[in-house]
Amino acid sequence: MSDGAMGRRGVPVRLDKVSFSYGEVQLAFDVQFAAAEITAIMGPSGSGKSTLLNLVAGFETPGSGHVLIGGADVSAAPPAARPVSMVFQENNLFAHLCVEQNVGLGRSPSLRLTEADRADIAGALARTGLAGKEKRLPRELSGGERQRVALARVLVRDRPVLLLDEPFASLGPALRDDMLDLVAAVHAERGMTVLFVTHQPEDARRIGRNVVFLDNGTVAASGTADDFFAGAGPEAFRRYIGAGA
Ligand code: ADP
Ligand code: MG
Repeated sequence: MSDGAMGRRGVPVRLDKVSFSYGEVQLAFDVQFAAAEITAIMGPSGSGKSTLLNLVAGFETPGSGHVLIGGADVSAAPPAARPVSMVFQENNLFAHLCVEQNVGLGRSPSLRLTEADRADIAGALARTGLAGKEKRLPRELSGGERQRVALARVLVRDRPVLLLDEPFASLGPALRDDMLDLVAAVHAERGMTVLFVTHQPEDARRIGRNVVFLDNGTVAASGTADDFFAGAGPEAFRRYIGAGA
């Protein structure tokens, strides 16, 4: 990992009048995510947070409108061609591959790895606290360790846009804080654009610069985390965090 050397290289992500539907369920997003910042995406269950990330990642395709990453229209590009990487809430890993191989996939889908790749992978494993567990299978890890492997994989993938869909929701508070601090530290070094879906207001506050609040399949409000958490956010957001998310 060429930490530090790359500078702030995140690119803006824009959903330009995007509409999407699952049958009767209609969603519509028109929003820009600032380059090289961490934006927390919050909102009630079913408000469209995962769908928004899936549209950026290319796992879903807009019915109309455009997805722009770094100004380039990627609306029709397959996931592998987009400059993004993603960590899901669970089921991130290949069950038959060991830790080192699961992380290596972030660098090479065929696991043809150079010495430099192997050094980066070892660095990512050390950084996520997985040194010594390289040969374990996912089933031989705790839930928290599995999420660390998923995070190590996106670190070696090293894309300008990082999508996190409640990646640490199943972890206890102390471990969650450790992982958030690690995301914040990597962000400080690499300056990627991070879209961070979370249910936890304290997590959003801990690492988010901006907040985008979704309700009912659309963007209900957006602004800086400072404003949102100082009470300048919309009434619906205050009710949402007041209700303990
Ligand atoms: P969130 O991540 O905020 O909980 P989602 O993006 O998963 O919300 O879902 C947004 C809406 O789309 C919800 O009404 C949900 O029920 C619906 N939805 C999500 N995935 C599917 C699917 N695969 N098929 C049908 N409806 C879906
Ligand atoms: Mg979701």
